[in-house]
Amino acid sequence: MNSKKKVVLVGAGFVGMSMAYSLLNQGGVDELILIDVNKDKAVGEEMDLSDGLPYSPHKMNIKAGDYDECKDANIVVITAGLAQKPGQSRLELAIENTKIVKEITKKVMENEFKGIFIVATNPVDLMSYVVLKTSKLPKAKVIGSGTVLDTARLRYLIGEYLKVSNKNVHAYILGEHGDSSLVPWEHCYIGCKKMMDIMKDNHLPMEDLEKIHNKVWNAAYEIIEKKKATYYGIGMALNRIIKAILNDENAILTVSTYQEGEYKQEGIYIGVPAIINKRGVKEILQLNLNEKDQEKFDKSCKIMRENIENEINNLLD
Ligand code: NAD
Repeated sequence: MNSKKKVVLVGAGFVGMSMAYSLLNQGGVDELILIDVNKDKAVGEEMDLSDGLPYSPHKMNIKAGDYDECKDANIVVITAGLAQKPGQSRLELAIENTKIVKEITKKVMENEFKGIFIVATNPVDLMSYVVLKTSKLPKAKVIGSGTVLDTARLRYLIGEYLKVSNKNVHAYILGEHGDSSLVPWEHCYIGCKKMMDIMKDNHLPMEDLEKIHNKVWNAAYEIIEKKKATYYGIGMALNRIIKAILNDENAILTVSTYQEGEYKQEGIYIGVPAIINKRGVKEILQLNLNEKDQEKFDKSCKIMRENIENEINNLLD
């Protein structure tokens, strides 16, 4: 493996380039390779992004390139594919994006890639499964961005609601990155105090919790309605996952990861808190979900399983 920290991005669209721009600003990556089916787009993005280098606090080699660059890359990030249109759910993208993500994964693997995949293309839980099955890599090395973005949205909204720094909000979204996600409120902390206790002690209505969650899952629809796409938040979320890997952080992030009995589920990718380090997913952090939350989680997993069985598996080799 390269001694430099090298990331290959496949899909130089809104999401991919927001991630690239945040890497340029935050640093921590030595080489960033941009691949896109639209080669001019990748070259244009290379030129535009490189113009920012003199004002970036970090050195970074940015190049439009091809799949041979994957050989010594630490991470390949996949953000290529169709995006949601107004009113469209993420699951509606599944068939078209499976074909795209499968082809990309094959090309990456043909170039002896030994690193870690991060998948953001939607529906991300299903696309992560496609990358796992196509690459045949160990599950630790295929990570979906899962509910990392949803969790950021939740933390931001709770911070605003309680007027505390979102950095002190330890709350997590589990399940599908999509309409069937859930918040295990009993496991949410503000600093060192349980969120539920804060609600009770301050006589805040418990219905507000559901309102906050509704706002989170509705956020993508609302943003897409207003500005056609969402990209800055996911760009930062992808950057966060990359840092956790490259800095060997053992950071806890709600990524989409393959289930083998954890949370009583198996054979699917779904968002759960997991410890992320240079090897990828080190371990899934298991919560004792209450009956209601486990039911919601199971429902979310059922949707994933049905999609895999009815649609995705037919498209895999
Ligand atoms: P976009 O249309 O701006 O970019 C997609 C890029 O992929 C384009 O540049 C296109 O040329 C490229 N592409 C298409 N097929 C390709 C192929 N076979 N090989 C290489 N490149 C290819 O879309 P976007 O807004 O950047 O969204 C990208 C994906 O990210 C979508 O699926 C979207 O739903 C998803 N997304 C995920 C999250 C998340 O939280 N996981 C959040 C927002 C968007």
